[in-house]
Amino acid sequence: MTRRQCTGEYKIKPIKKKVRELLGYPYPSRIPKGVFVEQWVGISTDEFHRAKDADVKYMRNRHPLIDLDWSRADCVRYLTSIGLADTPKSSCLGCPFHGNAQWRHIRDTSPQEWVDVVAFDAAIRQGNARANAAGNRLLGQAFLHRSRVPLGQAPIDHVTAAEWAARQEEFNDGTTTVEELEGGVADGCSPWACRGDVLLAQDDFGLAS
Ligand code: SF4
Repeated sequence: MTRRQCTGEYKIKPIKKKVRELLGYPYPSRIPKGVFVEQWVGISTDEFHRAKDADVKYMRNRHPLIDLDWSRADCVRYLTSIGLADTPKSSCLGCPFHGNAQWRHIRDTSPQEWVDVVAFDAAIRQGNARANAAGNRLLGQAFLHRSRVPLGQAPIDHVTAAEWAARQEEFNDGTTTVEELEGGVADGCSPWACRGDVLLAQDDFGLAS
């Protein structure tokens, strides 16, 4: 897995920008002390460790599911009771943490989105255009699927235990389990609880201050 900027670039920066706009203090205005938004983040009790304070004073995080003492199972029970039992984990369409089940779901239920993710996978083969231009070229090639095969041809259909054993060598990273290959990373992803624990170390819009 290479360094990713997805959460920082595409979620946190735009949210901070919008929050500043809503507060009436767009960057680089200084936000007065005591002016803030309250932001509700849906972290359940079984992922308590992912609940964090915001990193700026103009946003205060609240975690209503934790206040309610709701676990993931409680959420599923509630969603089922209102007819939303199939609510998926939150994630971006082209997330490299998807398992085969998520890739198949996109392919089999949303052909246009499948075309998009296959094209996106092809577009990242040589890495990040900005990093390449800055001289930090990717050594090798990038792929969305763990097999390091272009997504359109990757083995995303269900694999049996025997097939998986035969493929271990092909995957050769020594860390992927058959459960992860199928179901992807267990946690959902939100701007404030990214699957990859990506931190926005540097903010070139000054939004982190
Ligand atoms: S779901 Fe999270 S880790 Fe995956 S691409 Fe989106 S922001 Fe990145």
